[in-house]
Amino acid sequence: MALHVHKYGGTSVGTADKIQSVAQKLVDEKNKTGNDLVVVVSAMSGETNRMTDLAKQMQTAPSAKQMDVLLSTGEQVTISLLCMALEDLGQSAVSYTGSQVKIITDDSHTKARIEDIHTDKINADLATGNIVVVAGFQGITSEGAITTLGRGGSDTTAVALAAALKADECRIYTDVDGVYTTDPRVEPKARKLNKITFEEMLEMASLGSKILQIRSVEFAGKYNVPLRVLSTFVDGEGTLITYEDEEMEKALISGIAFNRDEAKVTLSGVPDMPGVASAILKPISEANIEIDMIVQNIAEDKTTDFTFTVHRNDYQKTMHILQNICTELGAKKVDGDDKIVKVSIVGVGMRSHAGIASQMFATLADEGINIRMISTSEIKISVVVDEKYLELAVRSLHESFGLSQE
Ligand code: ADP
Ligand code: ASP
Ligand code: MG
Repeated sequence: MALHVHKYGGTSVGTADKIQSVAQKLVDEKNKTGNDLVVVVSAMSGETNRMTDLAKQMQTAPSAKQMDVLLSTGEQVTISLLCMALEDLGQSAVSYTGSQVKIITDDSHTKARIEDIHTDKINADLATGNIVVVAGFQGITSEGAITTLGRGGSDTTAVALAAALKADECRIYTDVDGVYTTDPRVEPKARKLNKITFEEMLEMASLGSKILQIRSVEFAGKYNVPLRVLSTFVDGEGTLITYEDEEMEKALISGIAFNRDEAKVTLSGVPDMPGVASAILKPISEANIEIDMIVQNIAEDKTTDFTFTVHRNDYQKTMHILQNICTELGAKKVDGDDKIVKVSIVGVGMRSHAGIASQMFATLADEGINIRMISTSEIKISVVVDEKYLELAVRSLHESFGLSQE
């Protein structure tokens, strides 16, 4: 007998019928395998967005603290409904919110990090034959404030619970049957991967693939939680996220990720002297704005151009701060563009192969796509291109690197 943690995302529990079929699936699994089951659920699909829109009608910038109180209710609805459906099938079940379990987090509201999970109650409930249903995406600070873990945070709840309970497997059930070479909604020829390394999955997630929240992959890698992504609706083995093995090294590129939430800003004609980068970036980080790519040109006339990317939601705020810095530093001007995207190719096989970057750039050039920024690491190459080229860039790279289905 094993202990499995399952997580069902918003679309998997989006209607009463779907919640009932998840309940049936869980009862069948428990009867067939005798496994202990801990189930993490998201809010019903659309609910988190609906509540966010409501909040914006109350205040232009609602406090992160109140957003957490509001958004955590979405998952509370689902845990109760799933327990009712399980009980209706004759299966005993217990529901817990994050605060009831005592999923202790820090106090970074709307993006809190899990620090500790109390497992005593869950273990006791499992021992008496219950299915334990836990609200994803939420926790509580040691002072008792409700927190949430950032969008997609139920994935992280599931993996963190699996680590804390020393579960045999963590299964993320969603609306696709695994991790694909790229988002199948953008490239229908995308291929399902049977396995992907933690390292690659981490890059894919941090470069924009929303299939798993980044922190869930970090957790799984750190605590060695066997992690699998599968479909709620069709049977199959899904994709196992695991450590690198020989078979995987054969593929040069494992996947293509993209991020539509980017904007880029440029401060040009900045006096080229020590301390300039810090003078520009300090006020940005003090405003709690995360910076992604940074490029500084080589100075020719004792001035330089400084470009970086931020989340599109932070674009206006960043432009405003840069206007002030521009005057203070005596720079020439500030430009910005919030119609850009980042497209990245990812693969551990890249480590031992030259020429991947030139193939990427040639492919984009053949399609007439201008590259605006480039950044590389050992296992990924990212480019910033105009938003209108996103689909074309993803599909042409997918084809060029031989990822498409035959
Ligand atoms: P859930 O509500 O179950 O958490 P998400 O919408 O967060 O589901 O994640 C599933 C979606 O992730 C898929 O519908 C798919 O469009 C998208 N996605 C992005 N990149 C990939 C990828 N590489 N492989 C599979 N799905 C991907
Ligand atoms: N309900 C939250 C969201 O929509 C958390 C999750 O689904 O993982 O982001
Ligand atoms: Mg998700």
